[in-house]
Amino acid sequence: MAGYDYDLFVIGGGSGGVRAARVAAALGKRVAIAEEYRFGGTCVIRGCVPKKLYVYASQFPEHFADAAGYGWTVPEASFDWPTLVANKDKEIARLEAIYKRNVEGAGGQTFHSRAMLVDRHQVYLIAEDRTVSADQILIATGGRPAPHPALAGHEHCIFSNEVFDLKQLPKAIMIEGGGYIAVEFANIFHGLGVETTLVYRGQEILSRFDMDLRRLLHETMEKKGIRILCPAVSQRVSKNASGRLEVSLSSGQMLTVDQVMLAIGRIPNTENMGLEGVGVELGKTGAVVVDEYSRTNIDNIWAIGDVTHRVQLTPVAIHEAMCFIETAFKGNPTSPDHDTIPTAVFSQPEIGTVGLSEDEAVRRFQDIEVYRATFRPMRHTLSGRDEKMLMKLVVDGASRKVLGAHVLGPDAGEMAQLLGIPLKAGLTKDDFDRTMAVHPTAAEELVTMYKPTYRVKNGERV
Ligand code: NDP
Repeated sequence: MAGYDYDLFVIGGGSGGVRAARVAAALGKRVAIAEEYRFGGTCVIRGCVPKKLYVYASQFPEHFADAAGYGWTVPEASFDWPTLVANKDKEIARLEAIYKRNVEGAGGQTFHSRAMLVDRHQVYLIAEDRTVSADQILIATGGRPAPHPALAGHEHCIFSNEVFDLKQLPKAIMIEGGGYIAVEFANIFHGLGVETTLVYRGQEILSRFDMDLRRLLHETMEKKGIRILCPAVSQRVSKNASGRLEVSLSSGQMLTVDQVMLAIGRIPNTENMGLEGVGVELGKTGAVVVDEYSRTNIDNIWAIGDVTHRVQLTPVAIHEAMCFIETAFKGNPTSPDHDTIPTAVFSQPEIGTVGLSEDEAVRRFQDIEVYRATFRPMRHTLSGRDEKMLMKLVVDGASRKVLGAHVLGPDAGEMAQLLGIPLKAGLTKDDFDRTMAVHPTAAEELVTMYKPTYRVKNGERV
């Protein structure tokens, strides 16, 4: 090992890469990390963190409206997009500095450079015009929005990378996609007062989630004023004489908007970094192929996070980083656990979910009990807001194990984090039943649904 400049060289300074670099350095390893853009990666710079700040910004109009029922008179409010962007930038710069400082504070070295593999132990740093060597190499270069070259006029469209820093807030936007990003941004733009249209190719938005959540969210978004067109896809985007964008849809409809945002998935960043030359195996989507320990086909080269196209979530990348450290540096081979991952969609209302959807549970188990409650959350009583909250538990009738927990409503994301614990622990519906309720909360419904709403036996609802 002493023959190399470093014990570990990490390519990519996002959540996964930074965690691996920091922890390895803290173990006394000689570590370097290269990032070509900004430390913090997608999550911090143009993903989860700024998105959540924009979600908060977009919720104020509803808070102002709801205040009236509680006796408040709120003077007419106005919104300034450049102020939000500038304040977001300040916060992101602060976090970026912390990410970099944490690696350096642990004894790691940081490079602002694109890095390319020269061979299985050598990395060329473009900005420095030099080559360094490392015993172990970790690829953590993440992903980027999937382009849509088949769409005529795709050059007029923006992606989640650009959306945070638009010079001005559009008057009207069309967002294509029905996943996390499309749904979250449709709600953000609508909340900020933008005329918003969501265009989705399937029958119902959020294809990976429980159908009850999908339907109720769809209905609630439409009630707020978001236009949802599905099934439909855009077929052509063109700029008209006044600089606005005309979009023709497969459904025959035409839209005129100021921005078209495509949110149709993300692809791994694996091009032009020497991977093919070194012989690192790539999958069909260009993702780095890894084994159960995040090791590539070359035994000193590893990959974690979105670049491996396993589960594209920040906490998963961080978990994979910690498992990599155990395996590569602590002599304790540990494979990441991708089972029963709680997740949230920061739509409005929010989705918080963990475990199997009802449909998935029915496919896998013969006897399913579904416990479901739909109600108006207390905070919407005096406000008069006509919005429902949904809670649902999917239970295996044979073992009584809770297989899935699904929430739509205020703070659902926070609930999903806590629901992740009993589901991960494999607790049963009886454990939920003997847990005391916290009153008055919305979450108490999760422990007070005593009778199944219905059962599904061998695929038949009874
Ligand atoms: P998703 O995979 O969530 O959704 C992609 C959407 O685009 C799907 O609705 C898909 O349809 C649709 N789609 C795919 N290809 C096409 C096409 N050619 N034409 C039209 N529509 C298409 O990806 P996102 O881009 O929304 O987000 C990327 C990932 O980032 C997510 O998977 C998630 O892991 C992560 N993320 C997590 C967040 C969170 O934790 N809150 C927030 C944002 C992102 P179909 O369903 O039919 O396949």
